[in-house]
Amino acid sequence: MKKDASIRFWEKVNKNCKNGCWEWQAHLHKGYGQFGDSNRKIVYAHRYSYELEHGTISAGLELDHLCCNPRCVNPTHLEPVTRQENIRRIISKPRRFIDLAGQKFHRWLVQESVYDPKYKRWSWLCLCDCGNTGLIAVNRLTRGRSKSCGFLKREALVESWRTLSHSYLR
Ligand SMILES: [Zn+2]
Ligand SMILES: [Zn+2]
Repeated sequence: MKKDASIRFWEKVNKNCKNGCWEWQAHLHKGYGQFGDSNRKIVYAHRYSYELEHGTISAGLELDHLCCNPRCVNPTHLEPVTRQENIRRIISKPRRFIDLAGQKFHRWLVQESVYDPKYKRWSWLCLCDCGNTGLIAVNRLTRGRSKSCGFLKREALVESWRTLSHSYLR
């Protein structure tokens, strides 16, 4: 790829966006950035950026936006997947990014959205009332499957043991 095209490319990118996203500032098609490459071919901006970083994307693979932000061209937010896998993810993924920062779910106070490389998904960095932190997936928070760092359970156990021992003592 010619150098001049990549310089033109990065001039149209804002790297100071929420969640570490690099947002395309020029023409959009169905929400995705478009760019005229050195061969005057119109290409998707996120594919162009990924290929600058990693070389040509294998035939038949699509790029999944792990951050759910179609304007984003940050290569670390993109993962090449098969069409089938991409469709499966689109169905299972929340339609829109919902900002939970500052919200309280039981004992968790949501801090910021963080990419979890272990599970290859976005999770929320949360602060527990007790001071511990955790990376919690969105549906575990919103469906109440994770309520605290785990101290809560232990505290409840200790509490029931106390009540029990009190009743025995009486
Ligand atoms: Zn992104
Ligand atoms: Zn805790």
